[in-house]
Amino acid sequence: MTNSALRTVFSGGLVFDGTGADPAPADVVVADGRIVDVGTGLDGDTAVDCTGRTLLPGLFDCHVHLTLNGIGLLGALQKPFSYQFFEAAVNLRRTLQAGITTVRDAAGADLGVKQAVEDGLVPGPRVQISIGLISQTGGHGDNWMPSGQCAGLAVPHPGRPPAIADGPDEMRSTARTLLRAGAEVLKVCTTGGVLSPRDDPRHSQFTPAELDVLVAEASAQGRYVMAHAQGADGIKNAVRAGVRSIEHGIHLDDEAIDLMLRHGTWLVPTLIAPVAVIRAAEAGVQIPDAMVRKAREVTEAHTDSVRRAAEAGVRIAMGTDSGIGPHGTNLDELPLMEACGMTPGEVLAATTSSSARLLGYDDLGTVEPGRRADLVLVEGDAYDLTALPANVTEVWKDGVRAAV
Ligand SMILES: [Zn+2]
Repeated sequence: MTNSALRTVFSGGLVFDGTGADPAPADVVVADGRIVDVGTGLDGDTAVDCTGRTLLPGLFDCHVHLTLNGIGLLGALQKPFSYQFFEAAVNLRRTLQAGITTVRDAAGADLGVKQAVEDGLVPGPRVQISIGLISQTGGHGDNWMPSGQCAGLAVPHPGRPPAIADGPDEMRSTARTLLRAGAEVLKVCTTGGVLSPRDDPRHSQFTPAELDVLVAEASAQGRYVMAHAQGADGIKNAVRAGVRSIEHGIHLDDEAIDLMLRHGTWLVPTLIAPVAVIRAAEAGVQIPDAMVRKAREVTEAHTDSVRRAAEAGVRIAMGTDSGIGPHGTNLDELPLMEACGMTPGEVLAATTSSSARLLGYDDLGTVEPGRRADLVLVEGDAYDLTALPANVTEVWKDGVRAAV
């Protein structure tokens, strides 16, 4: 019998099953990387004592940038090209240690980063990749600087093709190029953003005709589209085009919320992202004043938008934009979601089962037989979201305990 066929029983603790139901006493049996039994009085070949702890499904972060390490452009420009991949290895480890067993990379990581984790070269959460940030000329992903130089945080390379497109034909070609490079989701900017020098988060980018082509190309290959979208008009354009998730969603009006409900569109708030920009500026990182001003301007509107979306019943999944802020601090997002009126159970469901559904993993996100054995053990009260990062004591991925 191989080691992996042994039954490991997690006993004596509470289980938060991922659905949003409150934690309840239960044992969980894992074998061959899968959950095989959940109940009371279960036994196994080896036991993990969960007394005083709560077992959660492996947590998700649906918006990270693994190859990004802060937003100081000057510092980033001094780093050798390949350094980002070694940093990604460190970032993957930190993210896993935080209890995150699955991430969606929202531009930056390429197929090599994903495959290195899959092949066991580096420890990390499983990674769903978008590779590039599809942007119009002058849009959020355009690295053009007022000096006339092009300088961005993610330089195109063979694994990460350029992603500036104008017009439906270029959009089609860009989409196909990214899908060829291994993109599992296409990331598009349908509005300006906080970190781009020459645009405004409230302005729309790309026309409905361009977005229709993008969604059609993704769908044709069984993929979907996520949209960086902050202003209401760009959000609505994205939703109408059939984009699966709105990232940030800073200025949601009632019509946008209504459209998201009707289309079943997901919201990934990334409430911590503007906070991270302000914190970095306060810590002395050289960031253009315009960026810091934009970050300060959006914070209040962001909280208000997410609160109204949550109240209305918009589907919400957890994302942080880590890479803007430090990797491994992902769970700092959770108290901010709670501050938008979500209950701790709702926040944790958004971070587990809901995120799994958004990313299309039907064997993750809940604790039930047949699911992959991604599990997180938390000391004390799992609903104390502020204390949660410090309370994560064990992280298991595919039935194997990760070094924490
Ligand atoms: Zn992002």
